Amino acid sequence: MRTNVWFHIASFLTAFALLTIPFVSTLAQDEVALLPANANTFVPAAAPLGDLLSLVSEGNMRQHITNLQNMGTRHVNSSLNTAGEGIGGAAMYITQQFESGCADTSPVQVSAQPFYAEFNGRMSEQQNIIATLPGSDASAGTIIVGAHYDSISTDFNDAYAFAPGANDNASGVAGLLELSRILCGQTHRATLMFVAFAAEEVNKQGSRAFVRDVVTAGNMQVKAMINLDIIGGSMGANGDMNPNQIRLFSDAPEGMSDSSSRQLARLISQICHNNNVPLEVVMQDRGDRPGRYGDHLSFSERGYPAVRFIEAVEHPNNQHSAMDTLNYLQPGYMGSAAQVVLATVFVLANGTFSPQMTVGSDAMLTWQPDPDAVSYVVSARMPGGLTYDQQFEVTTPQIALDTLIATGYTSVSIASRDASGVVGQPSMDWAFSGV
Ligand SMILES: [Zn+2]
Repeated sequence: MRTNVWFHIASFLTAFALLTIPFVSTLAQDEVALLPANANTFVPAAAPLGDLLSLVSEGNMRQHITNLQNMGTRHVNSSLNTAGEGIGGAAMYITQQFESGCADTSPVQVSAQPFYAEFNGRMSEQQNIIATLPGSDASAGTIIVGAHYDSISTDFNDAYAFAPGANDNASGVAGLLELSRILCGQTHRATLMFVAFAAEEVNKQGSRAFVRDVVTAGNMQVKAMINLDIIGGSMGANGDMNPNQIRLFSDAPEGMSDSSSRQLARLISQICHNNNVPLEVVMQDRGDRPGRYGDHLSFSERGYPAVRFIEAVEHPNNQHSAMDTLNYLQPGYMGSAAQVVLATVFVLANGTFSPQMTVGSDAMLTWQPDPDAVSYVVSARMPGGLTYDQQFEVTTPQIALDTLIATGYTSVSIASRDASGVVGQPSMDWAFSGV
């Protein structure tokens, strides 16, 4: 056990040494003697995250993108009823993949939510395709992973022009199908919903219909909505490359640094960072790129916490054109992007740690111990800060606040590390200003 703990601390330090953000590691209380008395009862997690992430197949993702771009177009006003072509063919393909990706014994339920979309003077019946994996704990809520499957060409009104939409957004659908395939073999604590949205390119009519008729009407407890939209490439229009990062957008009211979506983004960036995922998650201080939108905004504008993952550098000339094809994408990057989202969803869905924190007269912050924890990762943030500014790890469920307060920090979030090394779901921020 001692060896394991020191090994985790060493990996933690190694991981942090690689960071560009100037995190400071302060291990003042990291004495082996402070290990909880029940340390030897910890049971390793069934699947350490590394094994889980290795299940992502770039080959599967390439195949999904190829099959979707071969539909010709997935324009909202394209063919609705023919297998292998148009948006209807794409809906059939996604339905079939949701079903065939999971074993017969999987509790997954695949369904379609029909809705009417209107574009360019035409009304059409569209479908959001949904794969639901019921959770083991109703109080853990629902995590929605979404990606739009419609596409559009340079002439938005042209329902017949070639609109392969490989990056925008067959890449997101490919990630969605891979996550569903990998996660549907087990029951998770939270309910998982994988949703392929139609009609995003025409004012996100699909996700708005989903929020209205499924989420709000069903009084669904949405813990997180995670939108995958354009995750397939690491090369920009001028040949500039960024294969190491992925952006995370979250909306907040004008001039505000906080919202439920922004806090979700913070927790996600922390989960990814703590578990050493293959891309650095770079938080953005806005809902989306200037003048652009995505399906996550249909959720956050209704008060549900929602974020968007998108590649670090875009190739805007290829988007919404006949040039948006697989040969311009980087399968290694999209595999890494899917791994980032897989780690996020797995930890958010299975994490149970939401400690009660109390402060004693000696300015020691103490929290309820997590029986599965071998140590705790503490993340501190300055007032109004977009991200956490400092992290350190302790082996007992308490920290002294005086140094943090003197440095100007006003809130912390706590996450627990289990014996397999996985760092679980971080707590919401706990503010201690004025203590
Ligand atoms: Zn898109």
